[in-house]
Amino acid sequence: MIDFHCHIDLFPDPVSLISELDSLGIYVLAVTTTPKSWNHLQTLLAGRRRIKGAIGLHPELVAERFHEVDEVCSILSDTPYVGEIGLDGSPHFRSSFKLQQQVFERILKRCTEVGGRIMSIHSRAATSAVLNLLQIYAGAGTPVLHWFSGTEQELERAIKIGCWFSVGPTMLETTKGRRLVAAMPKSRVLTESDGPFAQMSGVSVTPTQMILAEELLGEIWDMSSDEIKTTLHKNLKILVQSAKAR
Ligand code: MN
Repeated sequence: MIDFHCHIDLFPDPVSLISELDSLGIYVLAVTTTPKSWNHLQTLLAGRRRIKGAIGLHPELVAERFHEVDEVCSILSDTPYVGEIGLDGSPHFRSSFKLQQQVFERILKRCTEVGGRIMSIHSRAATSAVLNLLQIYAGAGTPVLHWFSGTEQELERAIKIGCWFSVGPTMLETTKGRRLVAAMPKSRVLTESDGPFAQMSGVSVTPTQMILAEELLGEIWDMSSDEIKTTLHKNLKILVQSAKAR
């Protein structure tokens, strides 16, 4: 199984979660919300071959933590994975939107300078603005839009500019989410939990529940569980190899 967007360090007991995931053989991209947690995460992930860390600065935290962007940019050269980054245009974070754009742009520029990165990107209520910047910084690497919630037109545009998508059970249980996923290229989709933030029935989604995301994808794409697993693992391999080729 694959969880390409999980806030592992924010679960109540990351140490046991990581060892459980490692023994189950689950591939995880452990995104961060602030560079302040990077060193600790690296310690937690030492020796875990299938669990990789991504350096990020969450758009929801940019209002208070924008100065941390320097740290993100400096750590960026040491890792192929960047996230969680992006923009949030929802009412609660609107006041920092200009600042968020500056921060996102700085990170994309830095990704370009270092030859491109795999980026896990947040785009709630800001899809067009995210796509505009991704188009300007086309050399920033491979964008993976996490929990895509734009319109079908925006999805079409995202596909055209080369975006990938990570989708979770919460998204796959909504009518809109299912319609969007049905229109995504199967060769550019990965599963994600977005735990502990994403919840189902009041409980945080965990990487072990990616089996549920696989089942829902199977329904939407009319594929067997084996076909889904093969497709997702092949996608991950291609994505990771694209980064190694840089
Ligand atoms: Mn997230």
